[in-house]
Amino acid sequence: MQVKNQLFIGGKWIDTNKKLDVINPADETLITQVSLSTDKEHEFALESAHQAFQSWSKTAPRVRAEILRKAFELMIANADFLSELITKENGKVLADSKSEILYAAEFFRWFSEEAVRIEGEYRTSPSGDKKILVTKQPIGVSVLITPWNFPAAMATRKLGPALAAGCTVILKPASETPLTAIAIVQLLEQAGVPAGVVNLVLPEKTGEAISKMLHDKRVRNLSFTGSTEVGRLLLKEAADSVIRCSMELGGNAPFIVLDDADIDAAVAGAMIAKMRNGGAACTSANRFYVSEKIVKEFTEKFSKEMQKLKVGNGLDKSTQLGAYVSIKEREKIAELVSASINAGAKVEIGANKPNAAGAFYNPTVLSVKKDNLILEKEIFGPVAPIVSFKSDEEAIQLANATDFGLISYVFSDNLSRALKVAESLESGMVAINRGVISDPAAPFGGYKQSGLGREGGFDGINEFLETKYIGLNI
Ligand code: NAP
Repeated sequence: MQVKNQLFIGGKWIDTNKKLDVINPADETLITQVSLSTDKEHEFALESAHQAFQSWSKTAPRVRAEILRKAFELMIANADFLSELITKENGKVLADSKSEILYAAEFFRWFSEEAVRIEGEYRTSPSGDKKILVTKQPIGVSVLITPWNFPAAMATRKLGPALAAGCTVILKPASETPLTAIAIVQLLEQAGVPAGVVNLVLPEKTGEAISKMLHDKRVRNLSFTGSTEVGRLLLKEAADSVIRCSMELGGNAPFIVLDDADIDAAVAGAMIAKMRNGGAACTSANRFYVSEKIVKEFTEKFSKEMQKLKVGNGLDKSTQLGAYVSIKEREKIAELVSASINAGAKVEIGANKPNAAGAFYNPTVLSVKKDNLILEKEIFGPVAPIVSFKSDEEAIQLANATDFGLISYVFSDNLSRALKVAESLESGMVAINRGVISDPAAPFGGYKQSGLGREGGFDGINEFLETKYIGLNI
């Protein structure tokens, strides 16, 4: 397969004069230039999606399901090509890109199965005066906005349920990583998605273009994955037209190790929770709270494992930590670490950049006090601040002392103790004795300022459905 460098609107691949440079962050070379969209292309996308909705929403669920199933198969068949593409434009190591592609493809398979299981109800009202008929209908044209850290999975986690529900979409991938989304849209076209059902735009001026779309009566739904800052702004924009919003936003995940945990298992879990995707995941363990009884041993063993990681170009199969998506993103991490050290953090390992060109940062472990400023920020990189705690109650209180609530991790050999902690944590997901729990078959989403709504699982499709109640006499 060969990836295009065009927009996809109304079933046509479109070139424009304005171009976006796509850069490989491992060596800062230009991969290609992609066409940028302007008002003209956005109007074409809105009208195409609006027109296509009339027929796609009425297409038999089985037909929609089979297209999604075909898209799943095509993604698997092209997994190696797609993985390389992600590594080139995002910088992450090939192993992470490959697992992202497999995870991303699963959303097409899962929602191909969900398309034919959309629920309804038929029952008698409590007073017996009527029948209550409840049916679900596709909400309409949906704007899908995705970030750079999982350029494939964040797109399919929206495209899968949207298409399964019968919605048409306008997909806007992150400017740093448009190629993966374009390749996925190519595969959807090949799988038989009709013209206008999926449209891909890359606005020259993102904020302005999305604001206009959210004030257009043809748009009914917004599904956004990205930072809490931008999510908050979009919620305000969407309020004017009362557009339905699903928000998958930032995280600040606590990783709690209780005093009875198997330390080696906790270290292995920490390596996955922290270092999957080079630490650039909304689910990345961001704050390590370790019982004071075992903090010394945990810190030593964890630092040793972090130190072993080989940093370099993600395309080299022996590399374990690749480049960041851009120098700008890498500098944010470096600045945060410096600020944390100035605020009293002790460097266990790292806290520096390798001596090489490209957006790299070395694995870093810091021992910090519970009020260190790094604990308030989403680090989004290979940096692990460790804090010790005295009691389970203190661990819960520290873990919940944040505006975020996406995921938490708990390690303990006592399941009922771990469950008690899990129930008290203010997060949409809790991993017990595991470093990763994301699964297309499970509901993904956050409490508090980590988001609204759920993606995946049985809930995911509901973000693209309206509930209609019909009361009737028979
Ligand atoms: P971001 O800066 O919020 O950007 C995300 C997307 O929003 C990009 O496509 C970006 O487009 C677009 N955008 C930026 N400003 C916009 C505006 N004013 N109006 C409309 N769209 C706008 O986030 P990021 O740096 O790409 O991603 C990292 C963040 O995503 C982290 O906070 C991470 O936790 C979060 N995330 C959350 C989840 C989850 O499931 N909860 C998953 C992955 C990532 P441009 O590229 O054109 O600016």
